[in-house]
Amino acid sequence: MTEQTTAPRVAIVTGAARGIGAATAIRLAADGLAVAVLDLEESAGKETVERITAAGGRAVAIGADVSDAEQVQRAVERVATELGAPTVLVNNAGVLRDNLLFKMSESDWDTVMNVHLKGAFLMTRAVQKHMVDAGFGRVVNLSSSSAQGNRGQANYSAAKAGLQGFTKTLAIELGKFGVTANAVAPGFIATDMTAATAARVGMDFEDFKNAAAGHIPVARVGTPEDIAHTISFLVSEGAGFVSGQVVYVAGGPLD
Ligand code: NAP
Repeated sequence: MTEQTTAPRVAIVTGAARGIGAATAIRLAADGLAVAVLDLEESAGKETVERITAAGGRAVAIGADVSDAEQVQRAVERVATELGAPTVLVNNAGVLRDNLLFKMSESDWDTVMNVHLKGAFLMTRAVQKHMVDAGFGRVVNLSSSSAQGNRGQANYSAAKAGLQGFTKTLAIELGKFGVTANAVAPGFIATDMTAATAARVGMDFEDFKNAAAGHIPVARVGTPEDIAHTISFLVSEGAGFVSGQVVYVAGGPLD
């Protein structure tokens, strides 16, 4: 048996206690990366960590609010100490504060901007030095098909479109250091987030999913694993020439 001579890459996945983030953390660990499972509360990430370690992987749960610069800095330092320098970052943490424009509060707007846009900025700024020092880095930002506009989501669609511009700028600035940046823009994925949307509009989740599937060319809604699979490719060693892209993972074509 040959001994492993190089340390595994270290990834941070934000919002990894559940949904797409949890599936991504589990997938990246299965791919051989050590994974920091970052979420608002450290305790919330324990289940994801347990699933990873039970399968033979390496992970730690880290509690931090991605919209708070000091918490982000401390979290990234902790990852570097406990797992090693992080060179893969998946900015996945997200919240919804849906409302039609005339009913949308300033706080609805600020919360969504702070978690999605500012959170991705703060996390990437804190991690980029490790990537530049290593001459290798992979950033994946979670955008959304809602970036193209969606009723009731003026805040969310603006943040998700903003993340696409942020991604392309990272690709331009960091490319020469071996760092790629891409955005994954999911369509309808069955998670607590879409379950909450169903509840908000007063629909049974199964009926809501079936109605959505009726408009999707592959005739089903997506799973967190569909997104994790795409992220796994984008952060892989061989994907170094794919950068600044927005990959729609929506079961059909979107521009
Ligand atoms: P989810 O099930 O609601 O999970 C989101 C996770 O992010 C939760 O664990 C949440 O923690 C955490 N989080 C929220 N605010 C945070 C903060 N300030 N700091 C750290 N963690 C925070 O969502 P999901 O459906 O998996 O979505 C994941 C990402 O994909 C989001 O960016 C979302 O916008 C995007 N997306 C989802 C879909 C979809 O159909 N599901 C489609 C397109 C894009 P708490 O539980 O404590 O709130």
